[in-house]
Amino acid sequence: MSDQDNRDPKDTKETKENAGGQGEEKRGDYEDVCFVCRRPESKAGKMFKLPNGICVCDDCMHKTMDAVSQFDYQGMLSDPSFRKNMDQFMKGGMPQIRFVNIADLQGEGGIPNKQKIKRKKSGEDAQPALNIRDIPAPHKIKASLDEYVVGQERAKKVISVAVYNHYKRVATGTMDEIEIEKSNILMIGPTGSGKTYLVKTLARLLDVPLAIADATSLTEAGYIGDDIESVVSKLLAAADNDVEKAERGIIFIDEIDKIAKKKNTTSRDVSGESVQQGMLRLLEGAQVEVPVGANSKNAMVPLATVNTRNILFICGGAFPDLEDIIRERLTKTASIGFNAMLRDAYDKDKNILSRVTLEDLRRFGMIPEFLGRLPIICTLEGLTREMLVKILKEPRNAILKQYQKLLELDEVKLEFTEGALEAIAEKALERDTGARALRSIIEDFMLDIMYEIPKDDNIGRVTITEEYVRGSGGPLIDIRSNLIQDKPQELLTYET
Ligand code: ADP
Repeated sequence: MSDQDNRDPKDTKETKENAGGQGEEKRGDYEDVCFVCRRPESKAGKMFKLPNGICVCDDCMHKTMDAVSQFDYQGMLSDPSFRKNMDQFMKGGMPQIRFVNIADLQGEGGIPNKQKIKRKKSGEDAQPALNIRDIPAPHKIKASLDEYVVGQERAKKVISVAVYNHYKRVATGTMDEIEIEKSNILMIGPTGSGKTYLVKTLARLLDVPLAIADATSLTEAGYIGDDIESVVSKLLAAADNDVEKAERGIIFIDEIDKIAKKKNTTSRDVSGESVQQGMLRLLEGAQVEVPVGANSKNAMVPLATVNTRNILFICGGAFPDLEDIIRERLTKTASIGFNAMLRDAYDKDKNILSRVTLEDLRRFGMIPEFLGRLPIICTLEGLTREMLVKILKEPRNAILKQYQKLLELDEVKLEFTEGALEAIAEKALERDTGARALRSIIEDFMLDIMYEIPKDDNIGRVTITEEYVRGSGGPLIDIRSNLIQDKPQELLTYET
């Protein structure tokens, strides 16, 4: 083996990264992890550095040496060259032996960063990452949300204020006497009304990591399914294994209504009440040991400790039947005499969800301790036809704009008549999955257009009509030369 092989592999790697102009400071931010026991340097102590960026902690190295000295493999221990190597190694140098070619095990490029944990900064010099002046005021957060999310005015307002307060709390760091409570959010709204979309947009605007988990897949630790702490490890992955970044991220737990307490059950409720119980600790703020770069703890995965105190938890769910519970409560107080008139009004009230109280949620099956840790409740409205039409065309990345852009690349203009938009919205309403249906409906009829258009270079403009959406006619096609004279021409010869 040459001298070159004995060099610290980091040297070569660093030079490579520096040549690329980045990575220099990143390397210092990450700490090494023992290749055998997976403990980071901060826990296991100083590491022995082996070729290919492999590190082994003192304990594991000595255990290995002890094990080796237990047997004399084919007289190896009496071999003078082996003894010389070992002496050199114990003095701090590198032995000239290799049991396996480690590069073969890993492929090129050495240890990926995934196997490393970002260092926590030590107490004093750690600055709060979010400066209080950097946190946008609630009206600014809402204005940014407005560009993407249609309607849901109240929800956007509630969330903007909650998020503003949350990050103000995070930025202040340690609280002296007055501890500001966490503003975890419970979001209630029908399927496809924009719950997930709202949270995703928010995380993107604030540039914080986001993990989305499904409550239905969570079970109490030890049962089949993801254990509750796996959501934190997802967040850590979303934060590129940067513990500090993860600690101020957002965790969105969808379908939270599915972990309501089961009624009349005698068996152990491992995916309902006990999951709610298990989440209490996380919601409030706890130190959680999570595996890095994997979703289960095992000997091969390094662990990192994440504090959930500053993580914003948003739980969302459709809560079917909650409307009935609310209506029942409201009508109970209004069942006598004149008030009976109100009952009809409640029956017709589309936004009955906005009258939800903690008591209603408790009756639905959420345990009081759980609700206590989600102090902010916001409700989203079911989408109306007008809102669906707006969703089609208004948001920054509206679906129609996306298709227009696609066809623009073929130098074809795509237009939709108002009637067409209304027809799409009506079809979506029939499916009862909110805005989620829009894309598949459009995808259905756009397929033919996107298949046919590239065939004919003469086509300059396509107008989607109501008849085409409803399946009783074709789109309007304008030939480029006609476009100049602005004379539309109908073409009904699309084969499906
Ligand atoms: P859910 O409420 O079930 O979580 P989603 O947030 O997943 O629904 O919504 C599905 C899709 O519908 C989103 O990706 C988004 O494109 C669209 N959408 C839903 N609601 C809105 C809205 N209010 N404004 C803009 N787009 C919306």
